[in-house]
Amino acid sequence: MSDIENTIRLSRAYAAKNLPWFSPALYRCRIVLTEQVPIAAIDKNYNTYWNPRSIALLINSLSDRKRGLSELGFIWIHEISHVLREHFNRASYLGVDSIKWNYAADLEINDSEWEGLLPPTLFPPVTPNLYNLPSGRTAEWYYNNLPEKYVSFKIWDDGSGVHDKYRPWEKEDKNPQIINDINRTILQRDIARRLKSAKPGTLPGGWNVWIKNTLEPKIDWKKILRNRLSTAITIGRGCRIDYTYNKTNRRSTVYAPIILPTLAGTQSNQLVVVIDTSGSMKGQPLEQAVGELYGILKEAHRNVTLIPCDADVFQTIELKSAQDIRTLLKLPGGGGTNMIKGIEFATKQCPIPDTILVLTDGYTPYPTEKYNIPVLFGILGHNKLEEQATPPNPPWKEDTVVFIDLAK
Ligand SMILES: [Zn+2]
Repeated sequence: MSDIENTIRLSRAYAAKNLPWFSPALYRCRIVLTEQVPIAAIDKNYNTYWNPRSIALLINSLSDRKRGLSELGFIWIHEISHVLREHFNRASYLGVDSIKWNYAADLEINDSEWEGLLPPTLFPPVTPNLYNLPSGRTAEWYYNNLPEKYVSFKIWDDGSGVHDKYRPWEKEDKNPQIINDINRTILQRDIARRLKSAKPGTLPGGWNVWIKNTLEPKIDWKKILRNRLSTAITIGRGCRIDYTYNKTNRRSTVYAPIILPTLAGTQSNQLVVVIDTSGSMKGQPLEQAVGELYGILKEAHRNVTLIPCDADVFQTIELKSAQDIRTLLKLPGGGGTNMIKGIEFATKQCPIPDTILVLTDGYTPYPTEKYNIPVLFGILGHNKLEEQATPPNPPWKEDTVVFIDLAK
């Protein structure tokens, strides 16, 4: 292990000793040294990237070793704060300019003064007073209120953990750790509970709001669905490459080289929604949910095809505008339920869809094997659903399921 990496590890221990509540997040971090990152960065999976040259400069600019640990400890808390506060989710939800958002997110974090930790002298963090802005606001507020010339002496880029845009150092990382949404939430809640037990007055203001929001979350299914859809579309594109490859292999004709480049990696721009029209699904809440859903689907700039399905599949419907939602009033169905039929029918659509979304109340048989195309399940209901109403895990993981609360 290099001296620099050793110092980075020591400074993590130093931060954990001073602010023990953050230990689980600090020690969940993987450390990667790379000269591609400006100073330090993080992704949502707690992979942290450190520029050994910048870190050496920081240490060598100080005469006191303890001071170095305290400044690096500050950077540690800064980086994990981005992920704990879900800056990446908030950025992708808003579709922001990543560098400007990075500044805004830094302003949200940097109003926190922590005992025992000091902001780096060599790389002073941006603070609201630098722009004559009040402290204690959200990144969203700062984003809208930053002056035109917001770039300070250094372009700050803390990586995709802040703005959800993958950076070169992340792309070159051969072995990143992956932490799924559920484990990320468990970690957040663990830290929120620890922070809650801190002595009153020891936490900077913004963190109290964060604790409350983390421990009493309002689940926003629209936000989750947006994120899952965009992930599924990306995966779908990857699958299509495989799919095409397999298909041409099977045929093994001399035309294969011609077929491949035209199909490989293309998107079909097609989202297929299999909609459960069995007896239990009738009524206005369903139309309302699908109406909101239509907005989300259109944001993805995809053509939307509906496949009504009860125990059997009905004629497909192309949705061209929000007004077409009215056709839902006369969706055929009303019988038993078997979404497997709808999904299999969807996989045979031409062009092959990027993603299939199944909207159901959950009382249906589920496929026991995965398909080549990503399938998301939107489970509609008011309450916590029983086990049997959700797809079996495996093969369907938590991140393929979105609970759609009809009450909201
Ligand atoms: Zn930052």
